[in-house]
Amino acid sequence: MDCIFCKIANKEIPSTVVYEDEKILIFEDLEPQAPVHLLIVPKKHIESLNDMTEEDIELFGHIMHKAAFIAKEKGLTKGYRVVNNCGVDGGQTVGHVHYHLLGGRELQWPPG
Ligand code: 5GP
Ligand code: ZN
Repeated sequence: MDCIFCKIANKEIPSTVVYEDEKILIFEDLEPQAPVHLLIVPKKHIESLNDMTEEDIELFGHIMHKAAFIAKEKGLTKGYRVVNNCGVDGGQTVGHVHYHLLGGRELQWPPG
């Protein structure tokens, strides 16, 4: 399958990994939009949040749990943002579901 995040998860494409377990990979975004900008990706190929099924509920809970764990590890004591872009209007550009973890500066609201 020609999926860039599957290739990153399989180490066919290099990335700067900050956390890995059997279910997920967390790595640095190539074009960081904040001092801390990480991508949290399930190793299972799921195209978007729309394609999540009931059997993935535990996996997505695991993603959120590790997002908070890594935010603490990165010292984001003043807060951070976890974002999923879904579909064209949501601004999704990679068709493998992922969450952005952004922090290290005061983030604006609402996003554009
Ligand atoms: P989306 O726009 O789909 O929500 O987010 C895709 C993100 O993946 C973007 O922030 C983009 O910078 C990042 N990205 C795209 N290709 C690569 C890559 O090959 N390596 C890494 N580390 N990040 C990537
Ligand atoms: Zn994939």
